[in-house]
Amino acid sequence: MHAATPLLSATWFDGRSPQAQDVELQWTGSELLLHHRASGATRRYVGREVQWPERTRHGQRQVLLPDGSVLSLPDAAAWDEWSTQLGLSPSLAVRWALSWRASLAALGLLLVVMTSAWTWGIPWGAQRVADWMPASWEARLGESVMTEMRDQGWLKDSQVPEAQRQRIDAAVHRLLASVPADWNLPPVRVQVLRAPDWLGPNAFALPGGQIVVTDALVALLDSGQGPVDEALLGVIAHEIGHVRGRHGLRMLTESAAAGALMAWWIGDYSTLLAGAPTALMHAQYSRDHEREADALGLELMHAAGLDPRAMVRFFAALKKAAPKRDGDDPWFGLSTHPADSERVRFFEEGARQRAP
Ligand SMILES: [Zn+2]
Repeated sequence: MHAATPLLSATWFDGRSPQAQDVELQWTGSELLLHHRASGATRRYVGREVQWPERTRHGQRQVLLPDGSVLSLPDAAAWDEWSTQLGLSPSLAVRWALSWRASLAALGLLLVVMTSAWTWGIPWGAQRVADWMPASWEARLGESVMTEMRDQGWLKDSQVPEAQRQRIDAAVHRLLASVPADWNLPPVRVQVLRAPDWLGPNAFALPGGQIVVTDALVALLDSGQGPVDEALLGVIAHEIGHVRGRHGLRMLTESAAAGALMAWWIGDYSTLLAGAPTALMHAQYSRDHEREADALGLELMHAAGLDPRAMVRFFAALKKAAPKRDGDDPWFGLSTHPADSERVRFFEEGARQRAP
């Protein structure tokens, strides 16, 4: 018997009556003994079945015993000293570590589930929404985005001469006439507009068939004389690919769903965390959109008799114009498109497949 271990006074509630009873605690190394002051009786509890109190900074300690009774330790400091002296603290630490590890495992599992829902659930849902949404709604959505961009001053009237824009309009008209009938495009409208400098030579497609070409892109690719550069038409063909894939609508739906999920999931707790998955999502989803738009654009270039090598020239011109550029398509995220080198190879390969 470990007779030498010190005793500690405590209050015991038997779990049936609210009456406090005075006890002395003794620890044998594996068992907790309760000596009942009034009756002199002793109760024994196996140490590992006892729920030892968490060591918090304030407040009294409570010990839950396996029979449902409770020990109350009004003098927390005395308990801490007693339990530390008897080596109860290490077992507390071990218990804490075990529950900590279990929490980590549970968190890991939750992350896997959330990531799966995020990665596959949101694009799947956005595609269903796109399938379901009537074209007229999508067109109205695009109109309101365009109005917003105009009102905010992000897009302004073009400074490209009227005659040059009419020349481009006519070429776009011929390009659209080559669109395969089974693409079921909404009415496509291509507008040349002035955008902020940071957007640079660029083009993007809004939901519902509106395509914006920036003044800077026209300046980069079109001399204003002779036939319109095939590279400019190739970029527009790529954007028509976005229209066909309804990427604008899917992107908006994915962003809205991601925003709602994040708000529900972490609320206002951390804007840092909220930003990261959104960035991840864009990086993953938009690349797929870009590749699809490139494939459709190439198909349209073939149908219109345009040389895909014009796109290779386009990427070279773009690199020269803005060496630090990290994207070509703001609507789908600035840093999200496949690497230029991959796209150059794609169009070089496309040129080889071109019918003689
Ligand atoms: Zn694109």
